[in-house]
This record gives sequence, structure tokens and C-alpha cells, in this order.
Amino acid sequence: MDINRLLADRARAIDASGIRRVFELGAKLRNPCNLSIGQPDFPAPEAVKRAAIEAISADRNGYTLTQGVAELRWRIERALAVDLGWDFSPGSGASALVTSGTSGALLLACFALLGLGDEIIIPDPWFVLYPHLATLCGARAVACETHPDGRMTADRVEPLITGRTKIVLFNSPANPTGVVATRDECEELLDLCRRRGVLLISDEIYDEFCYSESRTDRFAGDASRACCPSPARFEAAQHNVLVVRGFGKTYGVTGWRMGYAAGPTALVEQMAKFQQYTFVCAPAPLQWGCVAALDVDMTEHVSEYEARRNLVVDRLREVTEVPFPGGAFYAFPCVPDRLGLSGSRFVERAIERSVLVIPGSVFSSRDDHFRLGYATSREQLERGLDAIVELLRG
Ligand code: PMP
Repeated sequence: MDINRLLADRARAIDASGIRRVFELGAKLRNPCNLSIGQPDFPAPEAVKRAAIEAISADRNGYTLTQGVAELRWRIERALAVDLGWDFSPGSGASALVTSGTSGALLLACFALLGLGDEIIIPDPWFVLYPHLATLCGARAVACETHPDGRMTADRVEPLITGRTKIVLFNSPANPTGVVATRDECEELLDLCRRRGVLLISDEIYDEFCYSESRTDRFAGDASRACCPSPARFEAAQHNVLVVRGFGKTYGVTGWRMGYAAGPTALVEQMAKFQQYTFVCAPAPLQWGCVAALDVDMTEHVSEYEARRNLVVDRLREVTEVPFPGGAFYAFPCVPDRLGLSGSRFVERAIERSVLVIPGSVFSSRDDHFRLGYATSREQLERGLDAIVELLRG
């Protein structure tokens, strides 16, 4: 049977070759220095693992409520009430939904909002899923160019809004740049979306990985609890913002596929409907693991990543331009013009030296950057940086 003849246009519209090519090249290397990784290198906290194992042993292995087990949803809402100042009481208009990963939350939101020909504004560079959220819904992704500083500001977004725009998808700290928006940038983007009647989806999967200089007062006058700036932390934001967060990166459990969304109840209810007929629910025992995760302090790991970030920025800034990575665990350096190499060619050169990084073209319409992930040991990182810096020096 000729399956290719049967494939839908949306299958043809997705090209998975970019990252795969790097992995294929990397698989041939004997002792690669892998700076292409997009997940933490610390183990999941013991208490989190234990809670999931206990849930399995206690036969909590069946379906849960589509919205998630009540205990976890309640804990998430309580955490967001403290963090964002949101009100989740009945009639408040805000709700939370436990999802299968952050990807699951983004997909459900797009299923609920994007029809044929609708538009979603995404940053360029983007996280690899973003353009395909549109592809999967028959919608159009409109890229907001953020070069050279990686900042998705209201000024850059406003000219892209049309009568078909439904969503502005915002990501801070960002993948692949690590750039963190300021409090003012968050407020201006929220104001714009409100004014134009567009939903702001804030992908905050890296919110825990926000380093000292990029943090802001949680609420006015409360400097003691500095946190990552968010458009969701302003007056009545719960009516205009869908916040999407995950457990995978924060607690080193990316394979658990656990995330959540919180925002306007009218939207969250529609997302729950789509979840019911697709994912059904997030993995049951792992939901219990995530209840335990919400009590774990990850500061020590975040501080270690901040130290690695400093190392990366110090080394790269000697030889090229890098949008300042205030969070996440990536940097997105520019391949200087004087080398006469595209981002992809540069990555091939790096791979020849056994260093794996990802070409910027995987994340962008441009091909003059590469993504370097520093969620790896300092020894690997230093070895990789030595080679990269030498290559960038030309
Ligand atoms: N958003 C961003 C910005 C990401 O980098 C990732 C994962 N790399 C995701 C969403 C998806 O996360 P999850 O594994 O929780 O689906």
C-alpha cells in the first residue's frame, strides 16, 4: 500500500529533519561533547520519585479526572494564588488543568482557539513545537522577528496583529535564547493583548530557571521574594492570560510528561473537553509525584545553572554576540559574518570537533546562530566551550 498517497497535508507540512540530522551526526561520534541537550542533568528529587512509586504501589494506576487529581489541582491553584495573586474561588473566572506535559497544554489551547485560517503570533526564534501548533490546527503562525536581542516586545508584536489573530504566544525565559523579559515588557505585552482582544499564552516552562539579575519583585514592595517576571502577575491578568508551566524541567522529570495550564475558566473548560477525547488525563501515579514536587526547593540546582550560565556568557562574549540569557539553560550565539559560515555549516564544523550544538535554522527563519545547552557537567561544558570559542575566533 502506498501510505505516502494517503498522508494528510499536515504530515507533509512538518519536516523533522533539522534536529534529527544533528542527532544522526552525533550518534556516529565516539565521545561527543553534547551541548545540544534540552533537559536538566540533575536527578529527580528523592521525595518526588518516592511519591510516584508509592502511588503505583497503592494502585493509583487508573484514569484520573480529566482535569487532574483534585489534590494536585488544588496545590497548583494555591501555588499560583501566592505566585501570581490569582483568585481561583468558584465564580472567579479562573481555573487550572493538569496536562500531559507543557506541550499537551499548548496543543489543547490551540485546538480550542484556532480555526482554519486563524493566526497565532509566535517569536522568531521559536520553540520547535510553536509553528506546528498552527500546522496541526490549519491555522497560520506569524513569526515576530526578535533579532538581535531576542525580546518579543509589544512594539514588535503590534504591527503583526490582524482581524484573524487569536493568540500571542510568549515564552520567557525563552528556548532557544534563554532571554528573560523585563517586568515592563510583560506589562506592555499584556496591555496590548487586552486592548486588541487577543489571548496571551505565557509559556513559563523555565520559570524556575530565572537568574538573579533577571528576577523582579513578586508584588510591589515585596523585594524579598524576587521571581521571574510574568505577564500573568498583573491586575486581573487571569482574564486575559493562559499560563502554561511544566514539572519536567523544574524537577528533572521531562519523561513524565507533566504540565499544567491556568487561565480563563471558559477556555480551560474547552481544553478539558479536548483532553477528555485525546490524552484522557495526565499519567495518574506521576500526578502524585508532582504533588510532592511542589514542596521541593530546587534553589541549589538553579544556582549551579546560574554559575554555568556565567561561564558560558563570559567565554562566548569574548568572540561573538549573544542575546543575554537571563534564564533557562541555553544560549543562542551568533555566527560572526567574518567567518563566512551559515549557522548550519558552523554546526557541522563543531560536530567535526565532536561538539554537538543545534543550528539556529531549526528554531528560526534565519540561519546565522546556533543553540548551546549548558545542562551538562562543567567538565563537558568547558571542553565544549574551548572548541566552540576557537571555532568562533576563526
Ligand atoms: N515550551 C518550551 C519553551 C520548551 O522548551 C519545551 C520543551 N523543551 C516545551 C514547551 C515542552 O515541554 P514538555 O516537555 O513539558 O512538553
